[in-house]
Amino acid sequence: MKATELKRYRKALVEKRGELLDRVHAVRTSEAQNREKEAPDLGDRALSTVTRELQYQLTSGERDMLRLIEAAIKRADEGDFGVCVACSKNVQTGRLQAVPWARHCIDCQELQDQGEL
Ligand SMILES: [Zn+2]
Repeated sequence: MKATELKRYRKALVEKRGELLDRVHAVRTSEAQNREKEAPDLGDRALSTVTRELQYQLTSGERDMLRLIEAAIKRADEGDFGVCVACSKNVQTGRLQAVPWARHCIDCQELQDQGEL
């Protein structure tokens, strides 16, 4: 991979990380605000529980993504970005453009999705 290409992917990863961190921060802030409010009746309380669970799910999903992005930035710095962690072949350019934090090439990702990796 060319250095300019690598730089572009790294930049995209850093930007995505910033976006996620902003969102994680926003969710935490709104959770803190919700906790301060007293739900006046059971209906409201039930609804606010659902909202909170949704926010937790979002946060945990985003945290997973954040971990993948951090790992991809590390690989970019160590010079093995764009190489499948399972088979060591180059990850397809189209895939990297769509998912720059991808750890696997398309073939290995399929195996993983099927639980065979
Ligand atoms: Zn692979």
